[in-house]
Amino acid sequence: KSKEKGRNCLTWFTPVMKEHAMERLDLEIALRQAIQAGEFVLHYQPKMNIKTGKIYGIEALIRWKKGPDLLYPDTFISILEETGMIIPVGEWVIREACSQCARWHQAGLSHLSVSVNLSAKQFQHPQLDVQIAQILKETGLPPSSLELELTESLLMDHSEKAARMLNNLKSLGISISIDDFGTGFSSLNYLKYLPIDTLKIDKTFIMNSEHDRTNAAIASAVISLAHSLNLKVVAEGVETPEQLELLHNGQCNYAQGYYISYPLQKEDVEEFLVFIPQKERDPE
Ligand code: C2E
Ligand code: MG
Ligand code: MG
Ligand code: MG
Repeated sequence: KSKEKGRNCLTWFTPVMKEHAMERLDLEIALRQAIQAGEFVLHYQPKMNIKTGKIYGIEALIRWKKGPDLLYPDTFISILEETGMIIPVGEWVIREACSQCARWHQAGLSHLSVSVNLSAKQFQHPQLDVQIAQILKETGLPPSSLELELTESLLMDHSEKAARMLNNLKSLGISISIDDFGTGFSSLNYLKYLPIDTLKIDKTFIMNSEHDRTNAAIASAVISLAHSLNLKVVAEGVETPEQLELLHNGQCNYAQGYYISYPLQKEDVEEFLVFIPQKERDPE
């Protein structure tokens, strides 16, 4: 019997596992080539001021043009993180988003801000603030038009270093928002001492909130929390007019989601922004 056990131990690397490892390795090699070949693109998802119906900002979301396929971040971001490739790719994202937003400013959309998602590795990079200052200088984007989206877990680890980095970033004049708020499994203590501007309610709480009382209650509690701390609050994943109405009644500041707009190719953003004022909701 023990022999059998021993044999099982030796065969832990099953054909299925081997296949997974090979696939992952292929993906890693392809990603290295993608960096060289410049196969990444950004799509931009508008964020709306609920009161005025106006688009005030856009979030940059990375995609990978892999041959005929368009791959979404869920399929490759974790590999970029584990291999450290997220550092050069993340820097490209910040530069591309800032220079694109600067171009929109030049085209007359000077009220527009852009937000960029950061992963933990990027945030722990000691040169992040220097890098961002440099990119703002290069692109000419006003610092107040750049927002960084961070997650709670990223702030929890190395909290002292994190606080220092956040303060440096804030002193450049950029804004900080907490993405996926409420899913991080963390204490709320950091809200007291970190310079945060915005909470972004995770889409799992917005989903079905017109029928799910628990979700509606959580969303409403996050809105109250944000406002009593003098923070702005965004709801992500708004998919129906009923959800938007609920957020409007609950005094949520901003909304983002498929109901307002899918993430757009950069070429389609201007057209969307010019078009939206005509379908403005309850003008005040
Ligand atoms: P996130 O920052 O929380 O972005 C929201 C995700 O929800 C996006 O998925 C967006 O396309 C999707 N979404 C937007 N509206 C709706 C909606 O109404 N319903 C539903 N069901 N989904 C909606 P995406 O683009 O696949 O990005 C997934 C995650 O990948 C992002 O979550 C972010 O954490 C990460 N990510 C994206 N771009 C970057 C990047 O440039 N750098 C880093 N480090 N992470 C990124
Ligand atoms: Mg985000
Ligand atoms: Mg989010
Ligand atoms: Mg999310």
